[in-house]
Amino acid sequence: MVNKNIMKKYSQEVLVYNPEFCSHSYGHSHPLKVERLQLTVDLMDAYGLFDSQESPWIDAKTADEQDLRLVHTPEYLEILKKANTGRPPPHAREYGLGSGDNPVFPGLYDWSLLVTGATLECIRQIRDENRLIAFNIAGGLHHALPSRASGFCYLNDPAIGIAQMVKEGLRVLYLDIDVHHGDGVETVFYNTDSVLTISLHQHGHTLFPGTGFLEDIGKGSGRGYAVNVPLAPGTDDDVYLRTFKEIVPPIVLAYNPDVLVTQLGVDTLATDPLASLSLTLNGFSDVIHEIKSWNRKWVALGGGGYNVMNVARAWTKTWAIIKGIDVPDDLPESFVRKYQEKQGVGLTLSGPLKTGHGPASDNIRQTAHSAVTKIKETIFPLLGI
Ligand SMILES: [Zn+2]
Repeated sequence: MVNKNIMKKYSQEVLVYNPEFCSHSYGHSHPLKVERLQLTVDLMDAYGLFDSQESPWIDAKTADEQDLRLVHTPEYLEILKKANTGRPPPHAREYGLGSGDNPVFPGLYDWSLLVTGATLECIRQIRDENRLIAFNIAGGLHHALPSRASGFCYLNDPAIGIAQMVKEGLRVLYLDIDVHHGDGVETVFYNTDSVLTISLHQHGHTLFPGTGFLEDIGKGSGRGYAVNVPLAPGTDDDVYLRTFKEIVPPIVLAYNPDVLVTQLGVDTLATDPLASLSLTLNGFSDVIHEIKSWNRKWVALGGGGYNVMNVARAWTKTWAIIKGIDVPDDLPESFVRKYQEKQGVGLTLSGPLKTGHGPASDNIRQTAHSAVTKIKETIFPLLGI
């Protein structure tokens, strides 16, 4: 008989979390609902996806300021600290703070430090504790820029974590499947070959932040180390998966990173209120299965997702896939009872996600096809593929 404590000690996969995440709020009318994190761990728990009830996750700790300085400017960090009171400090707007997207709320600096600390703990688990996979569902705040808040993001936890690994001599591949372009992370590493960034997203002509075009491939020694795959609104599972499989695995194989960092935003799903791609939970899961099959050291981060039940379901499926556990599609009775008011009729783990669209149009297929062709012409030769 296997001792449960020993199993836990040597578990190759860890979740890094802190219930404190949910003591913060962007405000009632803001689309980013922090409660989605609690909903997600509750669903994971209801499915029995934690090794131990005593310590279902590794507790996230707050990040140190010196780590933040790997990416962010001292002036910006000073402003953020002052904004922690919940009142916008002077010049806040010049740093992207106080707009509808990036409200100044009480504890915003504390919240950002804790989210970043969770990502840094994931990295520590991979590096020092010999874990294979670590997951921070609160992380992936990919739009924050070195001296500016942007797109609901104040500190860029993926970039800070990656910068720390680069300083230690590790090669990192950053893969961003959020529906929005991973502009902040790409900007920080645009001129270096120490980090290769890949972002698949809804085309910048149709969605925030309006960047991430095919011709944006990196500069200087970073030329060929930024990969952008813009997709048309309405892109469905079939088109997305074929595009992903043609582009991403060959690049991962060629670059052969020490560590993979993924931003797993779920605002690509068909019913997300902020974007217009048409993925289903099954399509999203297929991408996660593909990433897992590469069998690499993997820091998995959350990201966007503005339909809270989609978030809970998609990241619970992600955690089940990471753990290699098959879970039934019927939602657990205890979860259904607890969250009755949030349930749609007939909701299961995978469905339904009605898209209202038929098969992808020629324009959708053509946009994806052009991206694949162009990337094979421009990026692949630079990477020796
Ligand atoms: Zn997003």
